[in-house]
Parts: sequence; C-alpha cells; structure tokens
Amino acid sequence: SERTLVLLKPDTVRRGLVGEILGRYEAKGLSIVATWFGTIDAQQADAHYAEHVERDFYPPLRAFVTSGPMMALVLEGDQAIEVVRLLNGATDGRVAAPGTIRGDLSLSNRENLVHGSDSPESAARETALWFPELG
Ligand code: ATP
Repeated sequence: SERTLVLLKPDTVRRGLVGEILGRYEAKGLSIVATWFGTIDAQQADAHYAEHVERDFYPPLRAFVTSGPMMALVLEGDQAIEVVRLLNGATDGRVAAPGTIRGDLSLSNRENLVHGSDSPESAARETALWFPELG
C-alpha cells in the first residue's frame, strides 16, 4: 500500500464540492490517513510549488491557492499516487476526460479543484511539508 498527498484547493471549498470530491476518493477505496483544513500563506504556497515558482503561471496560481481555506489530505491505498492522478484527470479541466474530477467539475486550467502528488518522491516531500508529524 502507498500514500499520497492530496489538496482540495480553495475553489473546491468555495463551490461546496468537498463532500463530492472526498466521496470519489473514498468510493474508489482509498483511506483517509490525515487531514488539515485552513488557509495557507505565500510562504507555504511557494514551498509546496517549489518547482513552479519561476513559471509565468505561478503568481496567479499563488494568489489562487492563498485565496481561502483548503483541505490537505493524506490518502492511502494500493498504487494510491497513480490512482489519485487518474481520478483527478488532466491538469486543464476544459479538456480533462469526462468521468474524472476535473473533467466533470472544472472548466479551468488554474482552478482545477485538486492536486495529487506525481511520484513517490513528491509524495514524501509534500507529506513532510503538510504533515510534519507523519514523518
Ligand atoms: P497538480 O500538481 O496540482 O496535481 P498537475 O500536476 O496536473 O496539477 P502542474 O503542471 O504540476 O499540474 O501544475 C500545478 C498547478 O498549476 C495546476 O494544478 C494548475 O492549478 C496550475 N497550472 C498549471 N499550468 C497552468 C497554466 N498553464 N495556467 C494556469 N495554471 C496552471
């Protein structure tokens, strides 16, 4: 079994989709290991998106992810990293496949509701960042 770090971004909370999206992960069979709910500051956003801070799209992304409360989760299950990314769908909600979270619920490249770690290395780094107590 494997663990992955998931974010339900501020658009998810604002739109009242926390239950809908959490329900999809739970229905798939993933277990909730840890949760955090709150609003992050720019420093936490930069730490999470360290690989993107120099990109053109980053300043508006930082404004978005600091714009209101979000939920961070650690989910666990067989091949959880890949399973979550398949459930999430492609980055751009406009072209993400129907049946995926983004494909069904997002019409935006930036406000795409969710984040899931993209590798075991990212999962370890992001879990340590959001949940230091999980080591
Ligand atoms: P995530 O890492 O959040 O699961 P991802 O791996 O599909 O998404 P990345 O390429 O890592 O996408 O980009 C991180 C986030 O930055 C995206 O989820 C999206 O919110 C935003 N983003 C990425 N590319 C763009 C873009 N061209 N324009 C606006 N926002 C973007």
